[in-house]
Amino acid sequence: MSKRELILLALDESPALRLMERALRAADYETAIVHEQNGLAKALDESSPSLLLIGETFGGENGIEVAAAQLDRFPTLPILLFAEKDTTGTIKAVLKAGLSGYLYPPLKTDEIVDAVKRSLARAGHLGDWIRREVKRTTSSLEKRASISEAEKTRLESIIANLEDGVIVLDDQKKIILINRAACTAFGLETAALAGQPIESLVSNDDLHVMLAKSEGSAVKYYEINFDDGRVFNAQHTPIPKIGSAITMQDITYLKRLDQMKNDFVHTVSHDLRSPLTAVIGYAELIERVGPVNEQQKEFIHRVKGSVQSITTLVNDLLDLGRLEAGFDARRELVQVEDVLQYSLGLFESLIRKKNIHLYQNIANDLPPLRANPIRIRQMIDNLIGNAIKYTPDGGEIRVLILAEDNQIILEVTDTGPGIPREEQSKIFDKFYRASNVTNDTKGTGLGLAIVKSIVDSHHGRVWVESVVNHGASFFVVLPAYEQKET
Ligand code: ATP
Ligand code: MG
Repeated sequence: MSKRELILLALDESPALRLMERALRAADYETAIVHEQNGLAKALDESSPSLLLIGETFGGENGIEVAAAQLDRFPTLPILLFAEKDTTGTIKAVLKAGLSGYLYPPLKTDEIVDAVKRSLARAGHLGDWIRREVKRTTSSLEKRASISEAEKTRLESIIANLEDGVIVLDDQKKIILINRAACTAFGLETAALAGQPIESLVSNDDLHVMLAKSEGSAVKYYEINFDDGRVFNAQHTPIPKIGSAITMQDITYLKRLDQMKNDFVHTVSHDLRSPLTAVIGYAELIERVGPVNEQQKEFIHRVKGSVQSITTLVNDLLDLGRLEAGFDARRELVQVEDVLQYSLGLFESLIRKKNIHLYQNIANDLPPLRANPIRIRQMIDNLIGNAIKYTPDGGEIRVLILAEDNQIILEVTDTGPGIPREEQSKIFDKFYRASNVTNDTKGTGLGLAIVKSIVDSHHGRVWVESVVNHGASFFVVLPAYEQKET
């Protein structure tokens, strides 16, 4: 036998209540009676009745208001009101409160049972409809979830098969996802890496430096070197609310090509040096072995001038080769302001000839650098040399040196033509000469490349700030030598 439906009777003690109880029981319903509000709330919570029959006044309260409050909690519960008499006011109030119907005296047994049955049937339909709707919505949600699951699988297989290494980390630097290429790069087994901290899993120093350095910063590019000679270009990108992503491309072949090119340039430069010395030597000898006329003298002069330019170029290339190969290991304490004075001494006559006004602003008690003095001299010569070369007669050059946060800052500012914005990042490249140089400005475009290599090998930074027609300022920041307290 199916479970009998429970009808909750919330009525004050009266003959009508007993009549209802009897009528409902006779019609095979179960009944329960409550006489006051707390009891009603408790009974509704605990026994989930199928219908509530409530008196117009209940426990001294307005039954319609009590019923309306319960409907807020149980919107699908059918509620019948037992009114004291049948009036339009009662009907209105019942409709307004959203109750299922009402009974009024004189009560007849079958009227009671009919009213209850009708309300239960309507509630049953409503319940069926709700269940159907819930089922329909759930199945459409499931469908959508299965689509997004399929998309996820597709995305995962794309990432897994990418040639580039991809690692996604959470904000604790634990692995969320790592693809096959990244695993191969770091020599990891692909299985069960999710959730593991990348730093304890991978011992590569460059990766550790990258993770430490890019904290809180925007996209950054790094080179990750492996002991077996492989080199990867890596980007570490923060992803809001997730953590960060590392993508890596194998650039070993590019590095090899670059190395081959450098080796080639180095070898050629080296091999050019001896014939050039011979050319200069023999050009010097011509005048000594016999008389030469004025025109021949002029030609010899030009030969020497040209050979001198090639020799400078060759020397610059050899210098760059040495710097890039990391052969510049010599380190001693260098006072940068002293080097500057040597350099300015060399340029003195040129400065005077061009009628350039030179201003110096050198801080007192500058800390020394731990550097190669020859390279620092070369760097300053190039910067001052450029400033003089590109500043027109009667212009100004300002040199400033100061120390800040244990760094030496050197600034060389001129009143020359300036450098177009779009070319500013290229002028430190080898052989790059900006569009501001005229045909008769001599140079090969190696000076600033040498400056950059020197600054890099001393762990510093160099950059330019310039507005066309308003001169240029070159800045060099180098770490000062930290004297240990004794
Ligand atoms: P090199 O120094 O090899 O003799 P260069 O002076 O042309 O030749 P860099 O010193 O490398 O080469 O400078 C690269 C380019 O940057 C220059 O050709 C010039 O266009 C620009 N440049 C450098 N310094 C200045 C400056 N002070 N004012 C304006 N442009 C400059
Ligand atoms: Mg130069």
